Amino acid sequence: VASFPKDIAIPTSPAEPVRFAATELATYLRRMGAGEVRISERQLPAHWLVLGGTVTPDSPPSTSLDGFCIRPTSDGAVITAESTRGVLYGVYRLLQQYGCRWALHRMDERVPVLASLPPVPVTISSPRFEVRGYSADIMTWHYGDSHLLAEHLRDDGDFIDWMAKSGANVFQWIRHPIDTQFAIPELLPELRRRGIDVEYGGHVIPILVPRDLFPDDPTLFPESAAGVRTALGNVCVSNPRGLVLVAENAVACVREHPELTALHVWGADLWGGGWCRCTSCRTLTAQDQSLRLCNVVGRALGDAGMPRRVCYLAYHDTLEPDLQERADESVVIEFAPRERCYGHSLNDQACATNRRYRDALERYADLFGGRVRIFEYYADAILFCGCAVPLCDVIAADLDFYHSLGVREITNLQFGSFSLWAYPVNFLLFAAATWRPDAHSDRVREQYGERFGALQPAVADCLGRLERIMRGVVTYGDIRRPPKNAERAAALRPSLDNAIADLMTLSSALPHAATDRRVSGLGALVEYNRRVLQAVRLQLDGRASASDYEAALEILRNVNPGLLGVWGREDLPRIHAYHSAALGSPRGAQ
Ligand SMILES: [Zn+2]
Ligand SMILES: [Zn+2]
Repeated sequence: VASFPKDIAIPTSPAEPVRFAATELATYLRRMGAGEVRISERQLPAHWLVLGGTVTPDSPPSTSLDGFCIRPTSDGAVITAESTRGVLYGVYRLLQQYGCRWALHRMDERVPVLASLPPVPVTISSPRFEVRGYSADIMTWHYGDSHLLAEHLRDDGDFIDWMAKSGANVFQWIRHPIDTQFAIPELLPELRRRGIDVEYGGHVIPILVPRDLFPDDPTLFPESAAGVRTALGNVCVSNPRGLVLVAENAVACVREHPELTALHVWGADLWGGGWCRCTSCRTLTAQDQSLRLCNVVGRALGDAGMPRRVCYLAYHDTLEPDLQERADESVVIEFAPRERCYGHSLNDQACATNRRYRDALERYADLFGGRVRIFEYYADAILFCGCAVPLCDVIAADLDFYHSLGVREITNLQFGSFSLWAYPVNFLLFAAATWRPDAHSDRVREQYGERFGALQPAVADCLGRLERIMRGVVTYGDIRRPPKNAERAAALRPSLDNAIADLMTLSSALPHAATDRRVSGLGALVEYNRRVLQAVRLQLDGRASASDYEAALEILRNVNPGLLGVWGREDLPRIHAYHSAALGSPRGAQ
């Protein structure tokens, strides 16, 4: 006869994540063979959960941030935490200790059926990073199309589930001026239940001063170097009325969406553009103009009794801290090194490209006393144009470096199902390394390989080889925008040639890729990579055409649509079309 604890106790009037933690624990114990498990409310400290009838009377060892402590008792365990979501993290860890296996793809989750619960050790765990989050562009939900939105939401349900199981605590939506909303409201209940914070904003400076005010008052808007006011770009930061509008609209946004914990106040997504050159603004750098707006928003939210963190974007023309303005206490630097080299970690001395990014980040961290958030691109299928780019070693080294600078906040841009398919080990390594200092690339590759059964060693080996191959080419930003500069182009040619040859070898070494459904997806990704790089190689010599990239996309047409997800089917072809439209047209040297 199975013997399991039959009771879970939580504090009276518990916070939603604590109640959800109890529900999750009861649900999984039932699946493991426990039968009915009762949840009751008792006089307990706020962040406690007791499994079984025994309450450990002494005070728990202290943890920090979202940390937790699991103490076994004679008939169960007591979980204590520093935050409400810490209780949930503790429950998921306890279930792992009982034998559950969480997985990036929910279908791979394993729940054992047991006769009784095995003994567990005392466990004390605190996360290494304070913010462990994911970001995504709102437009990739295709919220104007109910079918695409519904499919995305189904996939999101699994992803949010995995976020909590892997210790993530922030989800950030990036709004563009073309968007009509700040978030995907359908997802808020699932995020709130798990205590995952939501952050809004993005390239929103253009919408904080509505463009339709232009005919009435062009002085609200930026003046170009040629002396012409334009409704494109950001705002004139020397116009007092403009600053009032920015403040009022930011306050209105938070009033309408009180759930948001941070507001990202970024300029228009343009290279070297969008800032004002009027006589008053001319002496202000892009950084000063941007920071002035963030300060205005931060102070206005504080004055309105709704203090929130405000994120200033260090990106493109604001990458270096070329600043005279002082930052308000509420402002955080969000460092987004998009065009960095992903072949090397950010602090790798061997990389000339990354030196600029490393220096800029170190100076920001100095200036802002470590009040820095990293916005990373480890699963950015736009940057890599859909190519599979495992980056375990780079991510591990990056996170060590970021942590050494005192940075405790990091998010990772991703696009749902497609990113989970093309960058699985990057998610696993990121999740592990944001929580613990000892995340290991080999272990992550093996962990992901488990979904392939007996083919696990071959898959883990393939991912390691693919990582080494792609590191030679992901050195210059957007994969479809190879450098025009002759010297840089010449340096890239042999790297591309090697990668193309190595991908060919890897393709032929992949076991059963043609016949075994389990690895056919991975085989398709390797072949897609090879065809994209072949086209990039032609492009370097000015000989590529849209059809070379079409040949790559053709490979993905035979892939299970569920793996591609909404992004792979709808967005990837558009991104190729966007780049292909620029083929052959003159572009400045990079
Ligand atoms: Zn101006
Ligand atoms: Zn490099």
